[in-house]
Amino acid sequence: MPLIKHGRIADDPWVTVDGDAPVPDDRPAILPLDRWLGEPEQWQGRNGGLGIRMKSDQSPEAIRDRLERFEVVALEFPEFGDGRSYSHARLLRERFGFRGELRAVGDVLRDQVQFMHRCGFDAFEVDDDSPLDAWLESMSEIGCSYQPASDGRPPIGALRHAARKPDAEARARSILGRYGNLDGQALIRAAIEREFPGGIAAVASFGAESAVLLDLIAQVDPATPIIFLETGKHFEETLAYRDRLVAHLGLTDVRSVTPEADDRLAQDPDGDLWRRDPDRCCDLLKVRPLARALVGFDAWISGRKRFHCALRSGLPTVEAEDDRVKINPLARWTAEQLRDAFARRRLPAHPLAGSGYPSIGCRPCTAKVASGEPPRSGRWANAEKTECGIHKAKWATND
Ligand code: SF4
Repeated sequence: MPLIKHGRIADDPWVTVDGDAPVPDDRPAILPLDRWLGEPEQWQGRNGGLGIRMKSDQSPEAIRDRLERFEVVALEFPEFGDGRSYSHARLLRERFGFRGELRAVGDVLRDQVQFMHRCGFDAFEVDDDSPLDAWLESMSEIGCSYQPASDGRPPIGALRHAARKPDAEARARSILGRYGNLDGQALIRAAIEREFPGGIAAVASFGAESAVLLDLIAQVDPATPIIFLETGKHFEETLAYRDRLVAHLGLTDVRSVTPEADDRLAQDPDGDLWRRDPDRCCDLLKVRPLARALVGFDAWISGRKRFHCALRSGLPTVEAEDDRVKINPLARWTAEQLRDAFARRRLPAHPLAGSGYPSIGCRPCTAKVASGEPPRSGRWANAEKTECGIHKAKWATND
């Protein structure tokens, strides 16, 4: 089967071993994961190179501790619509630091190759019947993408915006220098009234703690645009709570933002993408709609807090992200301060907040949290995923 590697047709010295078939001594070999797992020590001192082939329903966790043993990891795409291997590729590259060859095998489609490349794949097994010229063209014809991926390249929307805007990094540093000692309402007021009049929005999930941030904003200016990502997967209780809170606080510009209908039909026709590939699902339902909703704004306000999880423990109160400034007025707040604000301002509670849901997102990806566990531990509880992708923190620590 032809191999395209680093944008060129390449010789493939590797032998892919099926099941229990003999492994040649004199050639580098790619073994099925199950076979390697059954006898990992047997392959320890192998002279020829060793690679591993994984199905889309097998987790890269299985090889995490021995990754340096493998020169090649081949990830299978069993059929169109099964995108789990995209997530596995990003996990291997971004979280586990795999530097060997990442090979896409199986139902590899020509129009997906650019995005695969951006997720970390550098080699592709292509169909014998495919015209190789067309594959090579597809590697070079698309220079930009609408989707963010692990290569860190900004998507088209961000590039266009960046071309028009001054340096957000410098702006964030300057604001932090002047208002670094502020947080809560004082920081919100400085951002809305002095730094970005008419050019700032807030993003709210209408989850368990959202009322505190929204109340502070409403006291400064209830007409501040509030963006709510309406994924279509929220708890009914969240939607009812959104409406109740909006009325309670007198917010006058709440924008419920949905994905493009065409996008949704093409990428998630059965509404099950969250199960197969949560990274792509969040990209479809949250990241891209937010990017569209933020066009025209120079800054946005988020309600994240440091105490939520280790990943957020370094969260600054002001930061730059892509070409915008992001204000995190509650970054330093504690759970006790939030409870106090709820009581003092008599804020209505999310109906699920008292039932074991300290952090509430989409229904399929939110589980109850046991007492004493980090508040966000119920989000994507059975996956490696910890963030939806709308926050791309440079300061975060993953492990
Ligand atoms: S949180 Fe779950 S359902 Fe919601 S967008 Fe992300 S993967 Fe999809």
